[in-house]
Amino acid sequence: GGNAPRLAVAKPAAPAAPQSGRAAVEVHDLHKSYGALEVLKGVGLVAQPGEVVSMIGSSGSGKSTFLRCINLLEQPKSGRILIDGEEIRMKPDRDGLTVPADQKQVERIRARVGMVFQNFNLWPHLSVLDNIVEAPIHVLKESRAEAVDRAHELLKKVGLSEKHAHFPGQLSGGQQQRAAIARTLAMRPKVILLDEPTSALDPELVGEVLRVIRQLAEEGNTMILVTHEMQFAREVSHHIKFLHQGRVEEEGAPDQIFTNPRSERLSQFLARCN
Ligand code: ADP
Ligand code: MG
Repeated sequence: GGNAPRLAVAKPAAPAAPQSGRAAVEVHDLHKSYGALEVLKGVGLVAQPGEVVSMIGSSGSGKSTFLRCINLLEQPKSGRILIDGEEIRMKPDRDGLTVPADQKQVERIRARVGMVFQNFNLWPHLSVLDNIVEAPIHVLKESRAEAVDRAHELLKKVGLSEKHAHFPGQLSGGQQQRAAIARTLAMRPKVILLDEPTSALDPELVGEVLRVIRQLAEEGNTMILVTHEMQFAREVSHHIKFLHQGRVEEEGAPDQIFTNPRSERLSQFLARCN
């Protein structure tokens, strides 16, 4: 809305002033190993409400592991994670990992963190509509009527109103991913983690999914996006992190990262992406 002239490249406005409130996500000094393999060597990230932070880097640099730790799908060795200002309480276990100290808190936090996977992860035996209403009904305790109303709204938003009764196997990859995004939004997450959301798609289906993600960015959703779509990352992100072998090798504003990389490794990575 408004009368402001539209820029050719729509980019969400960066927060006008330093935020005094709590960050949507804060991660400090995260370490994670698989056996002897140290995959994350002290990675941090702060996303203010409404910000999009993108993570780029070669395969194996630790991007998915980082997202999976934020979502508590993996247990870090050490580090701190805060979601919407609430710190996840950790305790050491026998194997030298830190494990969440409070399962109730884990469930509460997981419900606030949305995750969109490369391979959609829809339930194949449920219709699109039932995929979307499942968690709001069982986790958020919404009534079925309320959840169904909202699901229809969300399906409209992602352009799938006609497909509510279809099963995932009857949809294209792009449609499945848009349904998965609607399912994530149904939980009203404080932050949405997207792990290469378009990597499994045929090239002609990438655009329809990126359009939806761009719309979410414009609407002020907080997102952490792992992607190989460099142009897209440049357009929608407030901040970019380049991971290399489990460390943030370089980070900064998109224009800085893409036009004026400081490190040789980032330059080489970007050259390989083109
Ligand atoms: P990226 O998403 O950047 O490609 P990952 O986080 O998937 O990187 O993987 C980082 C490293 O951790 C890789 O060397 C990968 O082989 C290893 N790794 C990932 N998951 C596991 C696992 N469950 N067990 C053992 N090693 C893993
Ligand atoms: Mg990955």
